Order: sequence, then C-alpha cells, then structure tokens
Amino acid sequence: MSPKVPVVSIVACLMPEMGIGHQGKLPWKLKQEMAYFRQVTTGTFNSDRRNAVVMGRKTWESIPPKFRPLPGRVNVIVSRDHAHGLAPATESSDHVWQSNSLAKCLELLPQLVGDLERIFVIGGGEVYAQTMLLNDYMLMTEIRPEDGTEQPPMDTFLDRGKISQLYQRNDDVAGFLPSNVQLPNVPQIREKGYVYEFALYKRRPEA
Ligand code: NDP
Repeated sequence: MSPKVPVVSIVACLMPEMGIGHQGKLPWKLKQEMAYFRQVTTGTFNSDRRNAVVMGRKTWESIPPKFRPLPGRVNVIVSRDHAHGLAPATESSDHVWQSNSLAKCLELLPQLVGDLERIFVIGGGEVYAQTMLLNDYMLMTEIRPEDGTEQPPMDTFLDRGKISQLYQRNDDVAGFLPSNVQLPNVPQIREKGYVYEFALYKRRPEA
C-alpha cells in the first residue's frame, strides 16, 4: 500500500463571506499572497520529493497560458471530459496529469506518482466544496478590506457553515510549512487596501 500523502486545500478568501472568485478570476491581485502560494505549494521538507497541485478545469483555464503548468509541481486538472481516472496528459512528461474524477485522482496520485510529499487542492469553488471531507488540512489566507476599501464583486464562495463544522484552527502555521516559505514577521500583511493573514485549519478528528 502507498504511504499516506496529506491532502491540503489552499485558498485565499474574503472574510467573513468567504468569497474566492469573480467571473472566472480572483477578485484581487495580491503580490505577497501569490508569492506565499508559490512557496507553499513548491517547497518540501524532503528535497527528494515534490508536491502535486490539483485543480478544476475552470481554475486551470484561469491561469494565463504562459504561467501554466505551474513549475516545480505535478499539475493535475480534473474535468468530466477527460478519458481516465488519472493519466499523464502527454506520454513524454509526468508534469501534467488529467483526471475525470476528483476522488479517484486523490486516491491514485500517491500510487502513480511515487515521490509526492503533499497534494494541494488549489481550487476553485466546485472542487473545494467536494474536498471538504477529503482534506486533512486547509491553508486559508483570510483577507479583509481595510477601512475605506470597498468590497470587490464576488460570485464564488466557500461554504462557511461546513468549514466551521468540519475544521478547527491550528495556530502553528510556521511549523506546518517548510523553511523556504518566508512568513511575514508581522501578524497581518497590508497590501492594496486589504489586510490579510495566513491561517491553518485541521479537519476535526470526528469529522
Ligand atoms: P473549478 O475551478 O472548481 O472547476 C470546475 C470544473 O472542474 C467543472 O466544471 C469540471 O470540469 C471539473 N470538475 C469539478 N468537479 C469534478 C469532479 N468531481 N470530477 C471531475 N471533474 C470535476 O470552477 P469554479 O467556477 O467553481 O471556480 C473557479 C473560480 O474560483 C474562479 O473565479 C477562480 O479565480 C476562483 N479561484 C479562487 C481561488 C482562491 O484561492 N481565491 C483559487 C482557485 C480558483 P468540466 O466542466 O470540464 O467537466
């Protein structure tokens, strides 16, 4: 049997509504948040291992072509139109995989890609909703507008009720992340009219 590979959702959301997207894009552009995402999903504790990033077809399409696939990570795109439970997109590389079932993909990834440290589920709304009971952890960037900043328009949300029912906050974010991740030395980051912090949630043992 393959060793257990932790499944971690990583998401940035506007509190308290937990909005995450608008018209197929992010509602904001926060440079330090994007750097955190890149460092967290790329970094590993064991230098012989890699991470996977699993995403819905619409999130894949929201990444500008010149930036995808995300480098240094095994990219997995789920779409019901794909032919297999999990298969490489091309014969020549194991950098990009396709799957027609999110559950199957999470089950097969550790078996078919032998050197994985963590599987990050990176969105979007439809995919996060289905992984609530499959995740071990959620890394959540909690964003709030600063006084005087208007709330951006949003049309995609996380399920707040489910998250508070299924997850409990764990304050040791630094201990959870490999040392390449540069966490700020202040509790909150201020950028472009928003204030945000990096939080970690663990699924409740009974959930
Ligand atoms: P998703 O990115 O979740 O993609 C949905 C698609 O994924 C479906 O249409 C389907 O593709 C495929 N899919 C979903 N579930 C399964 C399954 N069980 N098996 C196989 N395929 C599946 O779309 P959303 O519209 O919900 O989210 C996109 C929004 O989220 C955008 O606005 C984006 O910017 C935002 N986002 C925000 C993030 C954040 O951290 N704030 C992070 C990532 C995205 P198909 O139709 O081809 O069958």
